[in-house]
Amino acid sequence: MHACCRIAKISMAASAALLGLLLAGCATSPLGRPQLKLYSDQTVGRMGLQTFQQLQKKTPLSTDARLNAFVNCVAGQLTAQTGYRANWQAKVFQSDEINAFALPGGEIGVYSGLFKVVENQDQLAAVLGHEIGHVIAGHVNERLSDQALTQVALTAAGASGAGQGTMALMGLGAQVGILLPFSRTQESEADLIGLDLMSRAGFDPRQAVVLWQNMQQATAGKAPPELLSDHPADARRIQQIRARLPQDLPIYRQARAGGRQPDCGAAQHAH
Ligand SMILES: [Zn+2]
Repeated sequence: MHACCRIAKISMAASAALLGLLLAGCATSPLGRPQLKLYSDQTVGRMGLQTFQQLQKKTPLSTDARLNAFVNCVAGQLTAQTGYRANWQAKVFQSDEINAFALPGGEIGVYSGLFKVVENQDQLAAVLGHEIGHVIAGHVNERLSDQALTQVALTAAGASGAGQGTMALMGLGAQVGILLPFSRTQESEADLIGLDLMSRAGFDPRQAVVLWQNMQQATAGKAPPELLSDHPADARRIQQIRARLPQDLPIYRQARAGGRQPDCGAAQHAH
């Protein structure tokens, strides 16, 4: 059952103030899926920026100018197509991890290890398109809201006078952190948003299939890429991407014909 659908049930046990909050938080994802967003974009964006700063204290940034230029080129072409207001910025971390992320404030991180798997600009666009998809669909906000709602519901079920603790519980939900796995529904949605986005920017969406196949192969006989711990490269995922191609290939060809022909250079193996 979706969060917004749970509201009626929970409201029987919750205060009127909480009900108002929940109704105000009802939103719709870019693909038309109802979602609950209780936090403001500013609040979640601030959490993203803080997380980005903490990550930079733990992991050194890459000084490889060519790699930085390549990543910024691909990220810039994608974010220009989002129509979403954020403080978009991309940085390359010097790390063997095969990983990448985008945070709610628009901060994009790529680990240099990603280029053990990513072979060209279109495959990088597939990874970043997916991560940016999580941002523009407000998936962190949605996850935090669902967590807070669950906590409030548990309290409301177990005690009277739940209203006074509601805001405290919402604060608790926000402290759980933002670098947690997304739901399968959100993963699937980010895939489709990312595929649309890369196509609009003039990156070949067929390379998304190759990318996930590369990820699968990188798993064989070794520790799986870190990216896969949250993003399983299973048959279902690849199948869904393939099924979307008839819709996205014309968008890609139209973008190319219209002059959107990104030329970000070659993916460089930093190893
Ligand atoms: Zn994801």
